[in-house]
Amino acid sequence: MPRYQPTDAMMLPRFSGIRTFARLPHVTDLTDVDVAVIGSPFDTGGTYRVGCRFGPAHIREASALLRPYNPSLDVNVYDYISAIDYGDLPVVPGFIEAAYDQMVEGLMPVLNAGVIPILLGGDHSISLAHLRAMALRHGPVALIHFDSHNDLWDQYWGQKYTHGTPFRRALEEGLIDVKRSSEVGLRGSVYGPEDIQMGRDFGFQVFTMDEVRELGFAHVLKMVREQAGTGPCFLTFDIDFIDPAYAPGTGTPEVGGPTTWEALQCVRALKGLNFVGFDVVEVLPSYDSPGQVTALAAANVAFEMLSLVAWSRKHR
Ligand code: MN
Ligand code: MN
Repeated sequence: MPRYQPTDAMMLPRFSGIRTFARLPHVTDLTDVDVAVIGSPFDTGGTYRVGCRFGPAHIREASALLRPYNPSLDVNVYDYISAIDYGDLPVVPGFIEAAYDQMVEGLMPVLNAGVIPILLGGDHSISLAHLRAMALRHGPVALIHFDSHNDLWDQYWGQKYTHGTPFRRALEEGLIDVKRSSEVGLRGSVYGPEDIQMGRDFGFQVFTMDEVRELGFAHVLKMVREQAGTGPCFLTFDIDFIDPAYAPGTGTPEVGGPTTWEALQCVRALKGLNFVGFDVVEVLPSYDSPGQVTALAAANVAFEMLSLVAWSRKHR
């Protein structure tokens, strides 16, 4: 049996105990660990509403209800992987370049131990640090990017590092294998046609939300899977990919998105890809509903990520 498991709910009820992700043990020793859930609580890359620094704690709070078996993928997650809550990466608020260095430094021991991280954000600027660490360990990775925005802008107010620019920087730094990468979910009012076109110009496979509705989720996800091939992949999931009716607690909401179920199906559809890391970003607790519906969605997205790793171990 894998070493680290969630607390047994038949011994200690789900509403009790100290909050870690999915009631996994908080462990910082990486021996016998397959997957580490890690907070990345940085939010000063935000350009509109801010406060995602409280996202990791909020997602952990809502994750107490996660159970071990995933019926959609037919996998009992902790039969195949030993998973922990590693705590949060250290960051200095307000100073993004210093925070990036800290995030990379904090992630490298995890990656060097062969552990797959699932990072909880944090605004989307943090993904640049995550990708820097990934590329140090694995070389350029395929980026699978679920988001209502392209996050490929060159700058905001002359600033190179914001939550609207991480993947432009990642391309410039050679962190992404763009020919294997896809962006899915783009929509909303934008500044001009270049918002949609720039991803394609850089070489991404891009699907707007209109195209997803037209072609169907299954078809689009098949294309994403085929594009990604067998090399190392990183999945970045911006919670604003989901419609704000289902995920209101986020920094830059865009209407007309998928339901929570459709979003979960998108993640499940990626089973079999060679994932080396994941993040779930842009959860903003102060705008969430009293029922914590956004945090619940994010916790379940992260559970699907855990399930993908477990599915691969089960079927290898
Ligand atoms: Mn984003
Ligand atoms: Mn977004």
